[in-house]
Amino acid sequence: MRKDEAVTGTAPGMAPGAAPEPESLAADVVVIGGGPAGSTAAATLALRGHAVVLLEKEAHPRFHIGESLLPRNLDILERLGVLPEIARIGVHKPGAEFVSDRTGRSQAFPFARALDRDRTFAWQVKRAEFDHILFENAARRGAHALQRTQATGIDFHPDGEGAMVRARRADGTPLAIAARYVLDASGRDTFLASRMRVKSANKYNNTAAAYAHFRGVARREAELEGYISIHLAEDGWFWIIPLQGGVTSIGFVGNQSAWKGRSGSPAELLMARIAASPTVSTRMQGAELASEVFSTANYSYRARTGSGDGFLMIGDAFGFVDPMFSTGVLMAMTAGELGAEAADAWLENPARGRALARRTNRDLAAAMDRISWLIYRVNDPVLRSMFLAPSNLFWMRDGVVNMLAGNLRGSLRAELPVLAFKAAYHGLTALRRIGLGPAMPEAVAAAPLRG
Ligand SMILES: Cc1cc2nc3c(=O)[nH]c(=O)nc-3n(C[C@H](O)[C@H](O)[C@H](O)COP(=O)(O)OP(=O)(O)OC[C@H]3O[C@@H](n4cnc5c(N)ncnc54)[C@H](O)[C@@H]3O)c2cc1C
Repeated sequence: MRKDEAVTGTAPGMAPGAAPEPESLAADVVVIGGGPAGSTAAATLALRGHAVVLLEKEAHPRFHIGESLLPRNLDILERLGVLPEIARIGVHKPGAEFVSDRTGRSQAFPFARALDRDRTFAWQVKRAEFDHILFENAARRGAHALQRTQATGIDFHPDGEGAMVRARRADGTPLAIAARYVLDASGRDTFLASRMRVKSANKYNNTAAAYAHFRGVARREAELEGYISIHLAEDGWFWIIPLQGGVTSIGFVGNQSAWKGRSGSPAELLMARIAASPTVSTRMQGAELASEVFSTANYSYRARTGSGDGFLMIGDAFGFVDPMFSTGVLMAMTAGELGAEAADAWLENPARGRALARRTNRDLAAAMDRISWLIYRVNDPVLRSMFLAPSNLFWMRDGVVNMLAGNLRGSLRAELPVLAFKAAYHGLTALRRIGLGPAMPEAVAAAPLRG
């Protein structure tokens, strides 16, 4: 099918009193969800000449959390042709800073110190603007992009030859879209994984978050200007992300013990956590709310099966890990590109498409595991002490910075320093158990992030 054939809408007549016949469309690929994963996939497929329908239930621009990008994002933004537009809405991010709430000590990780130094910065963006640009780009590249249109159901053909996606526009008009392949990019709504009952919660990362935009937050200056600040508290962590227009994004992610026994609105909970953090509250003296306060629970999960005949789940629709290292948007857009490749292959040769789809999920799951190793241990006193004063022996620090820059699909060169870091962690942990470890400033850490 050519891409200009995607819109074959029929406006059927309606008998008085009868339910409206759904408007019908046909496409090579239906993409459910117009966030970073879906818009990347739709643009990539449309550029390859496929007929794509992209469904987004909301209207862009709309608020979304996930504002700090990684250097490796820039490659994808460049391939999509939107890098200059994103640069205009972004705050230049040369690195990440980790601050101990216990000691007040800060450790900077400049991306310029990563093993791969071809991209030494990223951008921090208001997602309302960022997602809007990506969605419009998909439409510009030829996808039939529908906003305020929610996918409500799906029937796969029993012979594995495509599916019928049911949707509803904001005015209630039903829509039926026949597609040969479906990419689920519905984010945390997990459209397919929930319907197929294949979503597994991650019991090791049972956290929840409260977050908002503020004005009047003290900015980091000089060599730390533009850095994301991650403040490590006793039972969770904060992000402080500088955005354009004097706005700062602040959120707290805590494990169950951080929220247990506390009641109140998300705003009250967030303000109480901020007040309890000496390092965050110092930066927020005189700051005021500039948005609603949002919350997200049931944090991390993954689909046990992320693909099958005629479908693939990408981005948060497949899995989600704690966002401490700002990996979500990069992984979603990477999955968008890989998902487009799998769909493209499927349309020509289903066996090849199936194999590529499986590989996409496998690669993304491996990247999530790599970053989860650090996340699960971030409240561990040994890991925290190593992280807040990293040695560069065996290029360990540069290897960790490399990971923090988004180089998650490990090459051997990148993997070795990380292995050295892990070995050092296990060695120090063993020494500490038998009372021989070196002094560690973070040694009195509270509830571990592990469940
Ligand atoms: C608290 C928190 C902080 C985070 N911080 C960061 C960060 O700093 N950096 C980072 O990189 N990542 C961060 N993330 C992760 C990041 O937000 C996500 O990984 C990223 O948005 C995933 O992109 P996506 O396209 O898969 O899903 P989404 O961005 O969620 O997009 C999915 C889209 O699908 C639409 N949709 C859903 N259901 C349907 C349906 N049935 N029909 C049609 N449309 C539908 C939704 O409206 C939405 O627009 C954070 C996440 C959380 C929860």
